Amino acid sequence: ATPTAVMVATGKGASQGVLIKGGNALEKAHKVNTVVFDKTGTLTVGKPEVVSAILFSRISMEEFCNTTIAVEANSEHPIAKAIVEHAKNRLPNHKTQPTNGSIVKDFEVHPGAGVGCKVGPKTVLIGNKRLMTSFNISISLEVENYFTDNEKLARTCVLVAIDGKIAGAVAVTDPVKPEAAHVISYLQSMNITTVMVTGDNRSTATAIAMEIGIGIENVFAETDPLGKAERIKELQEKGMIVAMVGDGINDSPALVAADVGMAIGAGTDVAIEAADIVLIKSCLEDVITAIDLSKKTISRIH
Ligand code: ADP
Ligand code: MG
Repeated sequence: ATPTAVMVATGKGASQGVLIKGGNALEKAHKVNTVVFDKTGTLTVGKPEVVSAILFSRISMEEFCNTTIAVEANSEHPIAKAIVEHAKNRLPNHKTQPTNGSIVKDFEVHPGAGVGCKVGPKTVLIGNKRLMTSFNISISLEVENYFTDNEKLARTCVLVAIDGKIAGAVAVTDPVKPEAAHVISYLQSMNITTVMVTGDNRSTATAIAMEIGIGIENVFAETDPLGKAERIKELQEKGMIVAMVGDGINDSPALVAADVGMAIGAGTDVAIEAADIVLIKSCLEDVITAIDLSKKTISRIH
């Protein structure tokens, strides 16, 4: 496209909340035949809520809550925010909590899996099953059953391990965006393959995919940030022209790997930085707006 055509399209995009960073993205977007979506915060609202909490060891709910608050207060993850809020409300005198004066040390993020640190003398890990397994923490049948029951309902379970033993778990729910199903079916009607890639577990991911019409053969679950980029490259090796839509730091390698990276405007700065196109309104409809804008610009040129 000519510089003028690019300028016109970029201006038009901007007025609709679709920020296109340069001509390259615009030229590529009309060729996209596969759109890969991150789940949490992209297809879902990204404001998870805790809907259940359960103890698997002999600690009190109060200690469980204090510990989770102490740890998750250090995390930016939306699940962490949900856990802190829930735990605070559950404590008897929550306005002055946490009361255990916990000293957190050695806080560590395990991307796509969870977090860990020392709380006073105790070693605490909070995250998914993969995180627990990688620290050789065993998962009892009771814990497995809690997972199965909740994941069928499209909930994500998060485990809390204290000193190498599962102390409890919480289940969170994060509703899908109201426009998600419609955008997926519209893209499919344009002969665009729709794919989900997520760090979350397979059952939860599948339940969400089915809810919005992404084929379960196109769901890549339990994928860490580099794995997300790998999936993109595999699709490209099969000849696909791939757009990646994501909101998190964990999506930035995939946003860079994709032919067109689209960041959700409400996402993290790192994702916005890594993307070619920013969807300011955080609305999935704008994935279609961006592709359409590119199509119109290119067809006007040739
Ligand atoms: P997505 O790819 O769907 O955006 P992430 O890669 O951010 O998800 O996270 C994958 C999984 O890792 C979450 O579903 C959760 O189980 C776990 N996880 C990540 N960070 C945290 C945290 N701070 N607290 C608890 N669990 C976490
Ligand atoms: Mg996300």
